Amino acid sequence: MKKCLWCLKSEPSISFKKKAHTIPKSLGGENINNNVCDSCNEYFGNKQEENFSIEEALKEAFNITRKRILLSSKPKKQVGKFKSRFFDIKEKKGKYKIQYRTSFRFNTHFQIKLCNSFKRGLYKLYFEELNRQQNIGYEDQYNIIREYARYNVNDLPVFYFKRKFGMVALTEREAETPTLKFNRMKYLYSNDCFEEIEFLGHVFGFPKKEFSKSSFENYYSESVKKKQDTFLTMTIIKKFTDIDITWSIMNN
Ligand SMILES: [Zn+2]
Repeated sequence: MKKCLWCLKSEPSISFKKKAHTIPKSLGGENINNNVCDSCNEYFGNKQEENFSIEEALKEAFNITRKRILLSSKPKKQVGKFKSRFFDIKEKKGKYKIQYRTSFRFNTHFQIKLCNSFKRGLYKLYFEELNRQQNIGYEDQYNIIREYARYNVNDLPVFYFKRKFGMVALTEREAETPTLKFNRMKYLYSNDCFEEIEFLGHVFGFPKKEFSKSSFENYYSESVKKKQDTFLTMTIIKKFTDIDITWSIMNN
């Protein structure tokens, strides 16, 4: 009997008919998590109280980075074409220009709401991939992720690490069909309480279980130590613009 990773309900009270992409299909994601029920899958993809869904906030954040890599490499086939509601990206003689549409707002309310949806989307991506790859996730320690990502209960912090240099080893293939690999890079630091991931060249950290102040301080100092050569700062993201979605570092 299948049990949903998010709502923890089991068949037959819930169904598993739809395919749940761990990484959005329109970003080129190919992996499916079979433990996401249809109603949870729909929840992440549908607009809730805001004018954007959790999945959409996630896609908007990573679409520009992905598009920039694909525009410069000009692949023959087009995989997963996400159509942004917020940004236009234009390339002219190797230079990129991002245009903000009026639907993207810089006011604090909009920025905080969009950022919150993004954070929940990032947790969704991570958690569904963790479950798919390592067959874990039903344990009680992950309830904080379920509560925040699926039910918007209790805010969890997400840290964003800004790079020193623009050189990011991202292959064309990786941009076309992005994946999430754990502990691939030397500068990523994860322990019992905190996880760090890199997705499309962006590095994030977040708690994966309840943590104390001292465990955060310990994580922070170990993480920063590993990153001193490659990264400038760690930010607890509050606004959507706290993420370097346009990858300004690549302009240098
Ligand atoms: Zn469910």
